[in-house]
Amino acid sequence: MKILLTNDDGMFAPGLWALVKELKSIAQVVVVAPDREQSAIGTAVTLRQPLRVQRVRPMVAEVETYAVEGTPADSVLLALGKLVGNKIDMVISGINQGVNLGDDVLISGTVGAALQGYLRGFPALAISTAAVDSLYLDNAAKLATLLAKKIDDNALPTNILLNVNLPNLPLAKIKGVKITRLASRSHTDTVEEGHDGKKAYYWLVRQKANKSTSEKSDIWAIEQGNISITPLHTNLSQKPSPPLPDSLCSELLQELRSEPTG
Ligand code: MN
Repeated sequence: MKILLTNDDGMFAPGLWALVKELKSIAQVVVVAPDREQSAIGTAVTLRQPLRVQRVRPMVAEVETYAVEGTPADSVLLALGKLVGNKIDMVISGINQGVNLGDDVLISGTVGAALQGYLRGFPALAISTAAVDSLYLDNAAKLATLLAKKIDDNALPTNILLNVNLPNLPLAKIKGVKITRLASRSHTDTVEEGHDGKKAYYWLVRQKANKSTSEKSDIWAIEQGNISITPLHTNLSQKPSPPLPDSLCSELLQELRSEPTG
């Protein structure tokens, strides 16, 4: 089994190498990851400047490792298109330090990288922990390895994109594993203004929304002390969405043609 491994916390993040150590026991691992932290960059790809890449010395011996001056998604595209090629069995992204839950999967670089693999037909796994320190990375590394093995054994569907999150707890305190859906709650974003002496500047500040989450959601599972596994798909326009009036298209066309435009 050959696994393409990336992350969004950058080449030197402990989560990446905790995962390498564990995956190495069951697979050939190639690391292609951003050379610096790229959290919250989502699925961004670099199209207006060249991508630079360096083969670097791995932090775990004998692992082919590349540092990309680009985003997590760039790293996967560059790996599949040039550095590693298509002969891989899956793409894994993580272990991210900090959860990726609910609406936030849309801005997550960890999920964004896994998504690039999924869109190209590879089983893909994004894995994150609620740990801000590296206390319980071992649980996540072991879980990702178990899932990779199940994918390789065809015990899971091959066309999957799994978003996996773990609570920041020792294994004995983890209550269970739940298959979940994304919660709609995420954060409230406020804008804080400062002044540097010449000009105003702004910080986007995120705070956890103080809303209760519905049962069976990913946030609920984590808050209850469970591991959350959310199967994702990419159809953003699937039902149910609020119905638009049947007459909308003909109305718009008519109005476009009759209104004088500025
Ligand atoms: Mn991150």
